[in-house]
This record gives sequence, C-alpha cells and structure tokens, in this order.
Amino acid sequence: MNFDQLRAEMVADLRERGIKDTAVLQAMHTVPREAFVQEEYLEHAYYNGALPLPAQQTISQPFVVALMLSALKLKPQFNVLEIGTGSGYAAAVLGQIVRQVHTVERQEALVDYAKTRLQQLGYANICVHLGDGTLGWPEAAPYDAIVVAAGGPTVPVSLREQLGVNGRLIMPVGSYKKQKLQLVWRRKDGRFGQKTLTPVRFVPLIGREGWDDGDQ
Ligand code: SAH
Repeated sequence: MNFDQLRAEMVADLRERGIKDTAVLQAMHTVPREAFVQEEYLEHAYYNGALPLPAQQTISQPFVVALMLSALKLKPQFNVLEIGTGSGYAAAVLGQIVRQVHTVERQEALVDYAKTRLQQLGYANICVHLGDGTLGWPEAAPYDAIVVAAGGPTVPVSLREQLGVNGRLIMPVGSYKKQKLQLVWRRKDGRFGQKTLTPVRFVPLIGREGWDDGDQ
C-alpha cells in the first residue's frame, strides 16, 4: 500500500472540505497515520472516519482533528495541552506545529501504546502523562492552547484555569453520546469568550470534572 500517496490524498480532501490552516495541513502531510492505527486496521489508516483503539477507545477522524487544531490558531512557540492521548496521533500532529506538547491519558494501556509509537518516530517534544485530564496538567501550565479529545458535560474549571492570556481551548461539550465542539478563549481581563461550533461524537471524558465511570 502506498501510504505516502494516501496521505497526500487525505490532505487534498481536507483542503476541499475547507481546512485552510497551512501548518495543520503540512503537519498532517508529514505524520504517518498508519503508525498509529492498530495493525488489523492498517488498510483503513487513511479512511476519513474514527478507527478502533485498545480499551474501547477510538482514534479521531482526520477531518475533526484538522478542524479542532485549526480553530486553535497554533503558532510555533506554543506550549499545548492535549487531554485524551489515545493513539498519540493528534499529539504527533501537534508536535509538528508547536514547540512543546503535554498530553494526558487516563488508560495506562494507551499511554504505553502512544509512547511506543511516538518514540519510534523520534518525536521528542511530546510528553505523555498518565492521569485524569479533567484536572489538566498544572505542572506545565499556563498553556497557549488546550485540545480535549473526549466529550464532557462542561468545560472543566481546571482546564480554564490553566489557559494563558489569549489562550484558546477546544472541546466537545454535550451529552454522553452527542456533543458540539465548543471554543473557549481567555481574554486579557481574565474573562472567557466562547463559541459553539459543529456537532460531533466523541468517546466520553471520564474523570473528576467529566462523566463518572458508570454514567451512560
Ligand atoms: N487524540 C486521540 C484520540 C483520543 S480518544 C488520537 O489521536 O488517537 C479519547 C481518549 O480520551 C481515550 O483514549 C480515553 O481513554 C481518553 N480519556 C477519557 N477521559 C479522560 C480523562 N479524564 N483524562 C485523560 N484521558 C481521558
């Protein structure tokens, strides 16, 4: 299978769907998505949909990754926090665009899965942490941008607090099964602006400031 060609086609498709951020398109042209999918789904690595990961989780749809990262208006000097490492794919894309990425995952099996792949590819500016990402990762705050890759009932207060001045956060907010992307930004006066974007379906954000493990 010619993955380089499939990757180029994926990027052309993202452009056609309206993704304009050249840094995001360039990063997705560079990162081998095939390295992050499970072996049995290898031939679908560039399918524009979510794909299964261990522990009943999913690697997000390329278009949604591109949409979320574009909304953050990323710049090279940024320090970025991702909640929900999953496969590590979105973290790898982020790592091509910004200076430093911190990514938090609650499932140990996925922390190992992502770390192995990121190491093999030599992506050195990404730190993978095991923990409850609804509490953020205060040790490396403030962040210029925060991306949450799981859906919750509200934007966790801890994440708002760890956003720097002019920082932008994007997260799926809604019910357990259906959400809308919500963009939040911190103004100079410390207050927050917010805007609701498109409907999406993400796996649940489970933690202290998210859903309980038993919620459905
Ligand atoms: N960004 C990933 C896809 C993430 S899927 C990729 O590119 O592959 C969502 C992930 O969020 C799952 O791995 C799930 O285990 C994780 N998750 C759910 N609740 C979490 C929490 N409170 N803290 C950290 N990770 C969480």
